[in-house]
Amino acid sequence: MKIYNTLTKSKQEFEPLEPGKVKMYVCGPTVYNYIHIGNARPMIVFDTVRRYFEYKGYDVNFVSNFTDVDDKIIKAAIEEGVDSSVISKRYIEECKKDMKGMNVRPATKHPLATEEIDGMIEMIQTLIDKGHAYVAADGTVYFRTSSFKEYGKLSHKNLEDLQSGFREIKVTGEEGKEDPTDFVLWKPKKEGEPFWVSPWCEGRPGWHIECSVMSKKYLGEQIDIHAGGEDLIFPHHENEIAQSEAANGKTFANYWMHNAFLNIDNKKMSKSLGNFFTVRDISEQYDLQVLRFFMLSAHYRSPLNFSRDLMEASKNGLERILTSMERLRELEAKAADGAQGEGQKEKEAKEGREAEVLKDVQALVEKYEAAMEDDFNTADAISAVFELVKLANTSVDETSSKELVVSVKHTMETLCDVLGILTERKKEVLDSEIEEMIAKRQAARKAKNFALADEIRGTLLGMGIVLEDTREGVKWKRM
Ligand code: AMP
Ligand code: ZN
Repeated sequence: MKIYNTLTKSKQEFEPLEPGKVKMYVCGPTVYNYIHIGNARPMIVFDTVRRYFEYKGYDVNFVSNFTDVDDKIIKAAIEEGVDSSVISKRYIEECKKDMKGMNVRPATKHPLATEEIDGMIEMIQTLIDKGHAYVAADGTVYFRTSSFKEYGKLSHKNLEDLQSGFREIKVTGEEGKEDPTDFVLWKPKKEGEPFWVSPWCEGRPGWHIECSVMSKKYLGEQIDIHAGGEDLIFPHHENEIAQSEAANGKTFANYWMHNAFLNIDNKKMSKSLGNFFTVRDISEQYDLQVLRFFMLSAHYRSPLNFSRDLMEASKNGLERILTSMERLRELEAKAADGAQGEGQKEKEAKEGREAEVLKDVQALVEKYEAAMEDDFNTADAISAVFELVKLANTSVDETSSKELVVSVKHTMETLCDVLGILTERKKEVLDSEIEEMIAKRQAARKAKNFALADEIRGTLLGMGIVLEDTREGVKWKRM
């Protein structure tokens, strides 16, 4: 399996640290609002990577954080006049609903920055003790980039160039830096901000340290794959490498994977330009499966431009797969066991023809795997799925044996499942059915059977129905 590694700027054969296991860390979103469709790209891409490893028999330990303390969260909290944990908790829940809609599986572990402060303080102390970090007069702790000889190795930047680039820029509040390329590990609190006690000052961590700490805690000092969007290469991932390798004295991650950006009108998505959609916006017009299919229609390292035309094309493509699957299910229900035929000769001829079809199916599976093993080329993998759809539509019919129908159907299901594409059409749910389930949930809550109540909520979510408990009672809407 070949993976493009940002660190070596080349496609490399994947060699796990431990046979049969993959340890993978993906930088997750900062939760101050609904996630936008740009944030959805790494979620979908790396969920697909995880699914492919699992398809190949690997045991994948997949960790992805939520950054729940940050300037943007604090700003949103001040604007609403609530504690910043109210904002982060709310948007973590909303993000999980979007993930579910996009069929992105929950990580093995989703650590929260605010729950890992002790580990961060410990790693920062280690960095200070080893001379890789220092405390400025105001209590800010900085990482000393000049102490880490390989600083710049991921982004292929040279420390001297970086230093001269930074020299002209003086940032207020960072006068205590020894060098302009040094970065913050811990900073003093400001009025009204959440803070934690540390040996240096009451304050909060810099952004980069959380991933080094969570990755170590949940996956160990060395991991196979570290991933995120390409904007994270510098400075975030460069700084994570510096922190982890300086503290642990070991290579941090063997493969660094980065998805390219999702653009709108060939421009970077941004709130200020107004060319920005949340996943929730899209869910009002499309099943989020369409969004997933759209994301996978391009290679993850190619920039992808969001457009209605492409979304419509993805919707039609998905529809072709679902229709073909529906037909195969119907054929399966009707098909008889074994090849049917008038006479022995006819039967043999038919078995021969079916064996040919199965050979073609196998060739398409190989084509699909070759695409996925070439740095997860989902665009080519999807082409193989479409070829399979065509083969199913033309070579499987009422006269086919059950074995053939089942085999083609199973192959199609499996290949779609690795892409996270559901092959069953969502049933249209009636309002009355939803209200009946909500009433059952209310009854369960009254009886303090919260497990059942949660289960019902989960089932509804799976059907694309989101519940909101308000003062006026339970409100629901379709995602
Ligand atoms: P953030 O919440 O900004 O830290 O972003 C969470 C993840 O989404 C990171 O991996 C980012 O690199 C990624 N990301 C943000 N915007 C985009 C975009 N427009 N296209 C692709 N990935 C993005
Ligand atoms: Zn990170």
